Parts: sequence; C-alpha cells; structure tokens
Amino acid sequence: MKHNFDWQPILLQCKANVLVHVQPLLKTLKEPQIDLGRGAGGDQMKMVDLAAEKAIVEVLLQNGVSFTLVSEESGVKEYGSQAKDRYVTVDPIDGTTNLVRGLPFYCSSIAISNEPQLSKVNAAMVTDLLHGTTYMAKHGKGANRNGEKIVTSAVTSLAEAVVGLDLNTYKINELALQASALIGQTKHIRHFGANALELCFVAEGLTDAFVDIRGKLRTTDVAAGFLILKEAGGVISTPDGEAVDAELDPRQTVKFVASGNPEIHQAILSLIQPK
Ligand SMILES: [Mg+2]
Repeated sequence: MKHNFDWQPILLQCKANVLVHVQPLLKTLKEPQIDLGRGAGGDQMKMVDLAAEKAIVEVLLQNGVSFTLVSEESGVKEYGSQAKDRYVTVDPIDGTTNLVRGLPFYCSSIAISNEPQLSKVNAAMVTDLLHGTTYMAKHGKGANRNGEKIVTSAVTSLAEAVVGLDLNTYKINELALQASALIGQTKHIRHFGANALELCFVAEGLTDAFVDIRGKLRTTDVAAGFLILKEAGGVISTPDGEAVDAELDPRQTVKFVASGNPEIHQAILSLIQPK
C-alpha cells in the first residue's frame, strides 16, 4: 500500500533546505571550482548542483519517503525499501550557468510521480532560488505562485506576444530554418536560461509561450514545469502537434511547444517548419 504524502509542505521544506545548502556556496563562486566531471544529464557538475540535490534527498528521507531519484546530476538512484513506488525527478539547479555567472535567473525543479513517465507527474514545484517565488501544482487541482492561483495568458496574436525560444545550440543552422518564420512574426522573443522557470512564466501569463525544439532539453528539466503549466491552463505538444510524453530519465530529451492557450499554440505550430 502506497503511503499518500501531502507533497506541498515536503516540497517547501526541500526549497528551504536547498537554500540553506546553496547560499554559502554563492560566496565562493569567484574561487577556483573543483572539477566534478559530468552529471547524468551530460552537463558539467558544480558544487551547487550536488549540494542542492543532497538537500532535496535529505528532506525526503527525513519525511520517510521511499523513492527512486531521477536526477540530472546523480542519475537514477533508489532510496528506501519501496523505491519503485515513487519517482522524484529533479533538476537540483536549473540555470547553473546563470548562477555561477551571477545572472539572477535560476531555480530548483522537483516532480513527483508513481511511474517514471512525464505524463504521470502528479505533484510539482519549481522555485526561483533568488527571488523567493515558488510555483506549485497538483494534478487536477490547479497551479499556484506563492499560494495564489495562476492562469495562463489570453494573448492569441503573435504580433502582441512575448515568446520564449531556446536558441542555445551549436546546430543553429538547423534550428534557424525551423524557427525563422516564428521569430519573424513574433513581437518579442526571449530566453532567460532556466527552462523550468520559463515554463512557469508561461503558466503565470508573464509570457505567452515557450518553445524548445532543439531536441536536447531533458525530461528532468521539464517534468515539474509541464504539470504547473498544464494545471494553469496551458497547452503543450510536440512541434508536430502530438502529445508530449517520455520516460523520466536524465538522458531522455524532448522537443515541445508550450503555450498559454490553444489559439496561440496553433499559430506557433503553423509557423514551425518541419525538420
Ligand atoms: Mg541542473
């Protein structure tokens, strides 16, 4: 019998513990950093990434949670006697480059599911570690920002829209071909460098869509943000308009268009050129 946890307080404890462990490290970023190799997701690991992951695991264990951790840093690891009952998918720090450079945009992302599948995530938190903004969602119960219900934007015209687009790739020729019509017809294009938080910006209606069709964004980055956006009324699909689902695994990547409403979603899909 699976124990039913009340995730909201546990996730908030995770946030608090991440801050306790990460804040002292922010003061040491100008010093030479130890080479920690690459994490399970393929990125260079930093002390802050590991400290944040450790802080999350610590809180879950303190709360008696048995779980399989699916982390961008440590990969897949089992904790407790019923580890297969529950999956905790984390990007301990999303936006590590921003954090290390002192750019004020990074977050922690935690998603809870009973199966290692993107579509099965039933509780989620994305928390901006610098500004104290926390987005949470529970399946079927809506999404909130610091406890207040959020809904997506009603902007349907790209001529009025602010659209996030991740252009961070060496394969820019390929991506430029696919995205040039969209860029050409959108009023404002943005990319801040922490995709989990950028999905929450769409959830809150700060931006109208977020597009990542590079094929390199991992499920660990989007697991929590997808639930928050869906619960806020947003629409997510592949660039071909199919449902996005994938295994929760640090090596599994997805391509997607995430929008505030169906009208702008269709407008974006119609402009993305097939590969
Ligand atoms: Mg990370």
